[in-house]
Amino acid sequence: MSASVETLLEALPYIREFHGRTVVIKYGGAAMREERLREDFATDVVLLKYVGLNPVIVHGGGPDITSYMERLGMEVRFHEGVRVSDPATVEVAKMVLLGKVNSDIVSRLNRHGQPAVGLSGEDGKLFEIGPHEQSAEVGFVGEIDRVDVDVLNHIAEDYIPVVASAGADADGNSYNVNADTAAGKVAAALGAYKAVFLTDVTGWLADPERPDSLVSRATVDEVSAKLEKVGGGMRPKLGACIEAIRGGVESAHIIDGSRPHSLLLELFTDAGIGTMVTG
Ligand code: ADP
Ligand code: MG
Repeated sequence: MSASVETLLEALPYIREFHGRTVVIKYGGAAMREERLREDFATDVVLLKYVGLNPVIVHGGGPDITSYMERLGMEVRFHEGVRVSDPATVEVAKMVLLGKVNSDIVSRLNRHGQPAVGLSGEDGKLFEIGPHEQSAEVGFVGEIDRVDVDVLNHIAEDYIPVVASAGADADGNSYNVNADTAAGKVAAALGAYKAVFLTDVTGWLADPERPDSLVSRATVDEVSAKLEKVGGGMRPKLGACIEAIRGGVESAHIIDGSRPHSLLLELFTDAGIGTMVTG
């Protein structure tokens, strides 16, 4: 049998298993950096929709926000991995996230044959936001208090929803929100089957200095026990996996978005890549 026929046969039981199920995909980091990877990502997501899955994208835009702030001569500062956000920073972040990153993803999906709709936490009151516990240090970085997925369910009937991780509080103040945290909450609120986090490393590494120390499977309890010791951008990702699984999601996956078509490999092949978190 040819390799491509084998690959198709291998995918079949997964296609059957996932039919009609919702998958929340956190898109960011490495998979966004190169043109070819952005195209691959769009192709993959469109294929998911064609084979009957219900993909929902949640994205951040860290590197783009930083580059626009620098172009505007603004100071870029981080506190424990979180962007220090005064009102001017939030204004730029929101403009870049919605006006550039979000619209670029939407237009790519459109071009690949599945119409998408972009929205932020403010649209349809998707996110109710309050200040972050470290707001004294980080300013307008928000914590999502509540997710109302009504708007997503409506959009997902016919379109691929693409959510930018920003929103406002009840008084209309805008906030930045960590996109991993947002994806975890959206996955839980939607009762998604899977949550997949695309990043720039192979997965959760037991020792961040050792690329060969990948944790390929872990339960929420194992992740919770170690969360305090995890640093950098991996911490909110693992936190989001815990939130998703505790909220009823079957499995959460952290995979390397710099590997072409990593999303398809994870979902439709026996091998499985990256870190899988389950209940
Ligand atoms: P993303 O855009 O995917 O959210 P982040 O930079 O926020 O990217 O998070 C991924 C980063 O987390 C990795 O590039 C790595 O530098 C960092 N990190 C910290 N601790 C770990 C760990 N234990 N395992 C893997 N990555 C880690
Ligand atoms: Mg991050």
